Amino acid sequence: MSKVFFAPMSFSRYDSSQTLPAKFERMLEQSELKGAVKGKKIAIKMHVGSGLSYSTIPPVFIRKLVDFLRREGAECFVTDHYVYGRHPEDRGYIDSVLGCPVLDACGYFGKYFYTKEVDFKKLRHVDVAGLIHDADYLIDFSHVKGHGACGYGGACKNIAMGCVTDRTRHELHSLEGGLSWNRDKCIHCGQCIQSCNHHANSFSEENYQGNYNVFFHNCTLCQHCMKVCPTEAITLDSHDYRDFQRGMAIATKTVLDCFEPENRYFINVLTQITALCDCWGMTTPSLVPDIGICASTDIASIEQATLDLIKFEKLNPEGVPEGLELGDHGHLFERLHGKDPYQQVAALADVGLGETKYETVIVE
Ligand code: SF4
Ligand code: SF4
Repeated sequence: MSKVFFAPMSFSRYDSSQTLPAKFERMLEQSELKGAVKGKKIAIKMHVGSGLSYSTIPPVFIRKLVDFLRREGAECFVTDHYVYGRHPEDRGYIDSVLGCPVLDACGYFGKYFYTKEVDFKKLRHVDVAGLIHDADYLIDFSHVKGHGACGYGGACKNIAMGCVTDRTRHELHSLEGGLSWNRDKCIHCGQCIQSCNHHANSFSEENYQGNYNVFFHNCTLCQHCMKVCPTEAITLDSHDYRDFQRGMAIATKTVLDCFEPENRYFINVLTQITALCDCWGMTTPSLVPDIGICASTDIASIEQATLDLIKFEKLNPEGVPEGLELGDHGHLFERLHGKDPYQQVAALADVGLGETKYETVIVE
């Protein structure tokens, strides 16, 4: 059974040693990173956010990690895709604050990558970002949040969508599928558009004319549009979101295969857990109170433990958009986005990336 370290937010007294950055330091000292990184070049993959977002990993934690790695004799850099266009400096991610460079994973022009061929439906190429590929060691440092396309964004999503090129992201999204529209049956009444609570569907022309389009990032597959359609013009097709989750597991495995198993580490930060991904350029109220930080050598275990820690019973209604109807079963993210996040963990285990059973080691 894999070990997952967990540093909880909860504290027993008013003392800085009881706060999360202090626990994070102690977690690193106890972790498998200790004594394992000397002389290595380490890529710290994180999401640098965009626009007005302020919920990505706070710089204080990144600095703690960088200082620890340097004390251990490693060389490191923080990396993500679209770094230069997303201005990480606006959110405090600069060399002098973090203690190491912040670099675009595919280089300044976004053209530095290594192509690995895969064969899963429309996913045919995993273009591994060059700077990630060339590192000796990968630390997958992820901010945990919900995600419209797959329910949940954590360690797997940080690699699958963040360590690759636009071509791979496009191929992954094309797996989403979900709804089919029959032009011959459509009478252009517009009821499908009015029934959608997620602004996920539209017609290409005014007055519900032209082609029917679905923006699958927003679509929860709630099927309201299908149910209100008087002519059965909208139906479910053979794809489902599980293809996207499996595609992400395959892309994650392809990236991780560039590293020996002992040269991979996963850290999930469970603070400011919002409904949507950090790429939306905004931060909405947290769905639940801050929880803490998890760390593990096993990506399936850390994802499972992370999801288990996020409880529907703790839901802050302010974190849910007004008028959005929550589902009545499953994980909080499933009720919010209509997609079971545990399918993503199962897909990771299925492609050989760890196990879903885990043992928790509390870091006090
Ligand atoms: S399935 Fe639901 S969320 Fe998706 S387009 Fe239809 S009404 Fe909107
Ligand atoms: S509800 Fe059905 S018939 Fe009406 S516009 Fe939508 S797809 Fe066409």
